Amino acid sequence: MTFKAEYIWIDGTEPTAKLRSKTKILADGAEPPVWGFDGSSTNQAQGHSSDLVLQPVFRCPDPIRGGDHILVLCEVLHTDMTPHPSNTRALLRPVAEKFAGQEPVFGIEQEYTFFAGSRPLGFPENGYPAPQGGYYCGVGADEIFGREIVEKHLDNCLAAGLGLSGINAEVMPGQWEFQVGPLSPLEVSDHMWVARWLLYRTAEEFGVSATLDAKPAKGDWNGAGAHTNFSTRAMREGYEPIITACEALGDGDKPLVHVKNYGTGIEARLTGLHETAPWNEYSYGVSDRGASVRIPWQVGVEKKGYIEDRRPNANVDPYVVTRLMVDTCCSALEK
Ligand code: ADP
Ligand code: MN
Ligand code: MN
Ligand code: MN
Ligand code: MN
Repeated sequence: MTFKAEYIWIDGTEPTAKLRSKTKILADGAEPPVWGFDGSSTNQAQGHSSDLVLQPVFRCPDPIRGGDHILVLCEVLHTDMTPHPSNTRALLRPVAEKFAGQEPVFGIEQEYTFFAGSRPLGFPENGYPAPQGGYYCGVGADEIFGREIVEKHLDNCLAAGLGLSGINAEVMPGQWEFQVGPLSPLEVSDHMWVARWLLYRTAEEFGVSATLDAKPAKGDWNGAGAHTNFSTRAMREGYEPIITACEALGDGDKPLVHVKNYGTGIEARLTGLHETAPWNEYSYGVSDRGASVRIPWQVGVEKKGYIEDRRPNANVDPYVVTRLMVDTCCSALEK
């Protein structure tokens, strides 16, 4: 007997990478082996030397196919087994290892928007829906668009064993959020990429597409972010490390370095309106949803917990945001 392994990888599309996948049939009991693909079709190689390597790094049950079928997330390598430049996971590995003793964990809030054709799901064919106000965590067919897809996606993620911690409807019609974590840097990122693949794959069955575009509707509509909640063991135990982390993120060229790597179209979303801080002004504060970094109110009261970096765009690469935050905050906390 055989089973199906869906090999998933991140391609080289600029400025925002896309997910790709293909199927390998394996004999019962077989380990998913290293595999290959045509890098010239994924913006990862030239035609004259196009072979790239898929190195399995994370696997889980495939909730779409069911049975013994599995999903296999891969790193992309050159044929000499060195990481391809598009392989941002390889850059996270040594940083996560270096600071593992501080026990960093992340919970990432993934916002996204469903589209039916060229319009956000719930937008009429002509003109616009009622302005924002009633959609966030709403209920009823006048406010909610795509719930059956969202529920199916959540069930699929849980069946795959991914560490989802919640879902909610967002501020714009057709816009939703799921949260992954708290988990270690590599785990939260691997789970996030597979959860994204399952989002596209689940919505496909409904003839709907999902986008991580940071500003999917122009005008007075909220953008889509990926608030990144972060703590180390010391932050979970005391307040001074919380402040140290907030200050480290604002030190020197750090605000610019981070924001430049927080996803495509950051200036269009971090305008200072719609619950954002301007992209070029760093700030932090308790309960402040207009700050770059928020200290949740319970954390301000209990004097321990975690911080929320509100800047990352929905289309951020979790391997990149977790690497930068661990590097910046854990280096400062080490001192
Ligand atoms: P918001 O009020 O910003 O919408 P959410 O409930 O959507 O908050 O998301 C909060 C996230 O914070 C969750 O993903 C949760 O797992 C994460 N989180 C909770 N505690 C911690 C912690 N100590 N360290 C890191 N992340 C945490
Ligand atoms: Mn072929
Ligand atoms: Mn949230
Ligand atoms: Mn949100
Ligand atoms: Mn948030």
